[in-house]
Amino acid sequence: MTSGSSGQTAGSPSGPYQGYVYAYPHKTAYRPLEPRPALREVWAGEPTGSLFLYLHIPFCEMRCGFCNLFTRTGAPEELVAAYLDALERQAHTVRDALDSPRFATAAIGGGTPTYLDAGELTRMFDLTERIMGVDLRAVPLSVETSPATATADRLAVLAGRGTTRISIGVQSFVDAEARAAVRPQRRAEVEAALGRIRDAGFEALNLDLIYGIDGQTEQSWRYSLDAALEWKPEEVYLYPLYVRPLTGLGRRARDWDDHRLGLYRSGREHLLAAGYEQVSMRMFRLPGTGSATEYCCQSDGMVGLGCGARSYTSTLHYSYEYAVAAGQVRGIIDDYVRLAPEEFALANVGFRLDGAERRRRHLIQSLLQAGGLDVAAYRARFGTEVTEDFGGELERLADRGWLERAAAEGGTPPEPGRAGSGHGGDRLRLTAEGLAYSDAIGPGLFSGRVRELMAAYEAR
Ligand code: SF4
Repeated sequence: MTSGSSGQTAGSPSGPYQGYVYAYPHKTAYRPLEPRPALREVWAGEPTGSLFLYLHIPFCEMRCGFCNLFTRTGAPEELVAAYLDALERQAHTVRDALDSPRFATAAIGGGTPTYLDAGELTRMFDLTERIMGVDLRAVPLSVETSPATATADRLAVLAGRGTTRISIGVQSFVDAEARAAVRPQRRAEVEAALGRIRDAGFEALNLDLIYGIDGQTEQSWRYSLDAALEWKPEEVYLYPLYVRPLTGLGRRARDWDDHRLGLYRSGREHLLAAGYEQVSMRMFRLPGTGSATEYCCQSDGMVGLGCGARSYTSTLHYSYEYAVAAGQVRGIIDDYVRLAPEEFALANVGFRLDGAERRRRHLIQSLLQAGGLDVAAYRARFGTEVTEDFGGELERLADRGWLERAAAEGGTPPEPGRAGSGHGGDRLRLTAEGLAYSDAIGPGLFSGRVRELMAAYEAR
């Protein structure tokens, strides 16, 4: 899986790259829950008719230099087997805590799920379907892979079990850049993996690229984009690199910011010219090839299995444990595989969302999508006006030219004037320039409480 840093400053303090908001609140705002609530209570009264099922496989064949995700490398076969045993125990306990769950979408992420061999993947699918009572062939299912592990036998298992979207982290088609990003892989190996993926016949291919790598130029960026486009991927993610190079541009944060912003703009233009639509700062998609899993993983009603997985109800986000440092991750996985079934019946760490945090979460996750926030949907959900709840913040964004009002499709044209005032417009959305600054806008909208918790976590 491709990562970006989240919550830490990796450019100039007021620059465009403050943190990737892939979830709000970020996991570093989670704290031990005292007392630990039973999952049965946590899920009581929650809608369970259209849940998102997420499985986390925390293993990778190597550690990418830019990665800050919960994963470990070089896991021996016995550990993988023990992990699947634990996943099975956890699935039983979690299923017992849910009242008649129905799963509408699913994703398997990591880590690299295809670190598991074909037999292990089959076991993972079997236990998930049998215990959770879900037919994964009947729902959109997204799985992450890597060039080295996307072998024909593994891909055959994924395709046979109903995978609709496969996501692969390529990062760069230039071998020297891949090495610089500490993901040593050759273009030939990547191309062969993409060929096998296309042969397996998945509905959607998602390809991740990274910009801001040491030595990367406008020209080499264009080269990678064109190499990616040859495969006509249904989705392309463009990730800014968040680990500052030690040489060249990395010496001055401002220069690196400018460099990344320039590559973002040219990458965006190139993909738009090639017929892609922009879904968020990072995500571009061929029209008509929507993936249901992308937006869902930010929504409420997510059931996570695996030791790094988060779960979301409307009022509590929780996980088994949290860590990013390699040594801690190993310890947590070793503990996880030894847990007794009853241990899985409790939420360990998490964050409770009150009404204000729920509104803020809705605001952040909507605004960071190119489609923006539907003003009437917000009103219907919360019974208040977004322009009153967040007036000051919205005005500041509008003043910088980052936010505009727009009519919903088929609606009346947007009102002239400020985005943060009045009630006439149908959508609030980031301008093209605002989208470019998503990684500053998102963290800028965090609540004071979340900010404090994240800062205290990072200071440890
Ligand atoms: S492949 Fe593994 S190490 Fe590399 S970014 Fe993804 S999770 Fe991290």
